Amino acid sequence: MSSAFGQYFKSIWSNARSIFIGLGVTIRYFFRPHTVITLQYPREMDKLPERHRGIHFLETEKCIMCYICAKACPVDCIYIEGTRDGDIEGAYQGNKAVMTMFVIDYSLCIMCNLCCEPCPKDCIHMGQEFHFTGTERNEMYKNLLEDRRYTKDDDAWVKSKRPDIVRLAEEKKQKKLAVMEAKKKAAAEAKAKTQSAEASASEAKADPEPKPKESEAKEDKPAPPTPGGEGDKA
Ligand code: SF4
Ligand code: SF4
Repeated sequence: MSSAFGQYFKSIWSNARSIFIGLGVTIRYFFRPHTVITLQYPREMDKLPERHRGIHFLETEKCIMCYICAKACPVDCIYIEGTRDGDIEGAYQGNKAVMTMFVIDYSLCIMCNLCCEPCPKDCIHMGQEFHFTGTERNEMYKNLLEDRRYTKDDDAWVKSKRPDIVRLAEEKKQKKLAVMEAKKKAAAEAKAKTQSAEASASEAKADPEPKPKESEAKEDKPAPPTPGGEGDKA
């Protein structure tokens, strides 16, 4: 019983002591304003380390829309849409590609930097910016093509451009098929030509001089002397 009481008062003393130590630090700095170490955030901000992993930024014109960053993302929070098969009105120009969407969902992103490391064009980076808040999940989408929040209007526009992407892909497919067909046809024609040339060459080899026809041979032979003819007279 006495040890329980002892433990009780000991913990009260320990807590009170830690409060007084903390207050002692506060009071010390309160009377020495020149040593103030707090910053008046958000008006004042400390310098962030150079390798700070903040909100991403994209160098759109360098992006080749290869999806490597999206595939590398462990939480699948990068959404890219666009085409490498042609042009779309109003789309954002990349490197041999146009993009309608390049969005990161910051309600999922874990700031791991795995999307930036494998980028072949070194065009997606984690920046110094860290202010990105919202009260709803859909407010946590950032449009990297315009470096601002992804809005409902953006979403409507992206959806309206999807048929164009499908059409361009289909057109490219058809073109490819036509080229393949033409190549196949040309190859078949060339093969047939070679085969017929080979056949006539082998025929010529097997029969170098054509034999005279039997009727022609008969005509060429001198007619046998007939009894009572000119030969007998001589
Ligand atoms: S930082 Fe990590 S989680 Fe965030 S988008 Fe890049 S790969 Fe995905
Ligand atoms: S990996 Fe780089 S080049 Fe490829 S889509 Fe992502 S940002 Fe663009």
